[in-house]
Amino acid sequence: MPAVKQAVKREADLKGKLKEVFGYGQFRGTQEAIIQNVIEGNNTFVIMPTGAGKSLCYQLPALILPGTAIVISPLIALMKNQVDQLNAFGVNAQFLNSTLSKSEMNRVKKDVISGEVKLLYVAPESLTKDETIDFLQKATISFVAIDEAHCISEWGHDFRPEYRRIRGIIDNIGQVPIIALTATATPKVQLDIQKNLQMDEASVFKTSFNRTNLYYEVRPKHNTKKQLIQYVKQHKNKAGIVYCLSRKKVEEIAELLRVNDVKALPYHAGLDPHVRMANQDAFLNEEADVIVATIAFGMGIDKPDVRFVIHYDTPKSIEGYYQETGRGGRDGLEGNCLMFYSYDDIVKLEKFNKDKPVTERDNSKLLLQEMANYADSAVCRRKQLLHYFGEHFEKDCGFCDNCKHPKERFEAKDEVLMALKAVVQTEERFGIEHIGTVLMGMNNAHVESYGHNALPIYGVGKDHDAAFWHSLLRQTLLNGFLEKDIENFGVVKICPKGLDFIENPHSIKLTKDHNYEEEVKEEQEKEEVQEAAGHDAALFEMLKSLRKKIAKEKNLPPYV
Ligand code: ADP
Ligand code: MG
Ligand code: ZN
Repeated sequence: MPAVKQAVKREADLKGKLKEVFGYGQFRGTQEAIIQNVIEGNNTFVIMPTGAGKSLCYQLPALILPGTAIVISPLIALMKNQVDQLNAFGVNAQFLNSTLSKSEMNRVKKDVISGEVKLLYVAPESLTKDETIDFLQKATISFVAIDEAHCISEWGHDFRPEYRRIRGIIDNIGQVPIIALTATATPKVQLDIQKNLQMDEASVFKTSFNRTNLYYEVRPKHNTKKQLIQYVKQHKNKAGIVYCLSRKKVEEIAELLRVNDVKALPYHAGLDPHVRMANQDAFLNEEADVIVATIAFGMGIDKPDVRFVIHYDTPKSIEGYYQETGRGGRDGLEGNCLMFYSYDDIVKLEKFNKDKPVTERDNSKLLLQEMANYADSAVCRRKQLLHYFGEHFEKDCGFCDNCKHPKERFEAKDEVLMALKAVVQTEERFGIEHIGTVLMGMNNAHVESYGHNALPIYGVGKDHDAAFWHSLLRQTLLNGFLEKDIENFGVVKICPKGLDFIENPHSIKLTKDHNYEEEVKEEQEKEEVQEAAGHDAALFEMLKSLRKKIAKEKNLPPYV
């Protein structure tokens, strides 16, 4: 058959299979191109947001190709979920993990070797066992799919050391193509994954991370419980997730919502597995409206109509935050993402990292700093998020708190010029904090040791404080004047647009950042004043009636 005809036929075959097995009429986005690529035996790297339909990209090729596809998945619950689903579609899919008995395992292995099993789900821990490798060498493997591939990278938010051993094991199985999939890949994480899996040449399919139906909002952590209850009541009878950082907090907040007549249930790793499962099911089946959870909840959970995702505590990283908010509005309808922020949370989280190895601690610190920057910034949230994931988003989105309630803007020319020159004069070898210090002319051992106190730029920006310079530098990054070297601890470098600016400076509009600590303090003061005024009024009323009484007693004219 001529190649063109063959391709046409395959297209029809793929669509036929999609309908026949999964019951869907159409492919979504780039699913079809990805599936073709896998069938052709190429290495494939898929980066698509949560809910985009990544699973199908390996499930369908597995049905078409001879042999068994190995699917590596980080969570037992996730595996079970997918295997159950596939079995319900009439597909022979099985899993191999620590929940199986010896005889069950042997049965699964037998079925794989005989070629009956189309998809075998494996936890990375089971995969690294010698006996598993032995058995896989006897089987016909069509390809290996690595789901949630960001677990490979220490820079991701769910680093799993066993994931780094996958490549070596694949080499032991023989020459098989790989498809890696993830919903979170900053350029740094993407690089890490490709390096570790030795698939630099893989075809990369990356779709935009813009979730246009999600509304992003950050509020200071102040009267948080009251705000939470109000917010949840505004979304009465709608499904929502409230994320907290600790198990204890999860319990506390679930209880708080319950006594306020919200059908809320807790979910965290400390609960009895049966209770945990029952609570998850109750949420999925709409017996409960709200699930209050640690981040243990949600990976791979497929509930399309989650209408709000609240971060009661400030999350540990933007990756995590994006992933968790991504569970809202998967059906393309309304999705509200509210995060409560306080710098105290950041400090607390930093303390948790105290005992980690140095590099890990530094990574975590950087991730936390990015989170704090995001929260404080008055720039369009979507612009910031997409920038973080390596996408450029030109206009403000109009659909986030910062766009809806814009902060004061100011024109800057000289200051931008100063900042850019500082980057050049310090030879593009430092991060935002150091550049700020040099601009303000604050000498310290670090500044001195590099001789930066002798630079022409030293101290020219002393009229502004650190917060100002950090904010300005962050915004010049967002605007593409500067870029952060992700390979190199956030060192800031100048871009062509920045060089143009130095040659031809012009005024640009910048935004004044939030200062939540101050805002909360002011708000508190206002409340106190109102209360005080209230006290005065009551006192006045009391005095008035007292005077009336005295006047009456003494038979004087009433005093008003
Ligand atoms: P991801 O892994 O990217 O987060 P999933 O693979 O879990 O997403 O898919 C999300 C949802 O989209 C699932 O309910 C899945 O059945 C559905 N889905 C995937 N592809 C299609 C399609 N082509 N048509 C309709 N629904 C689809
Ligand atoms: Mg998935
Ligand atoms: Zn916006």
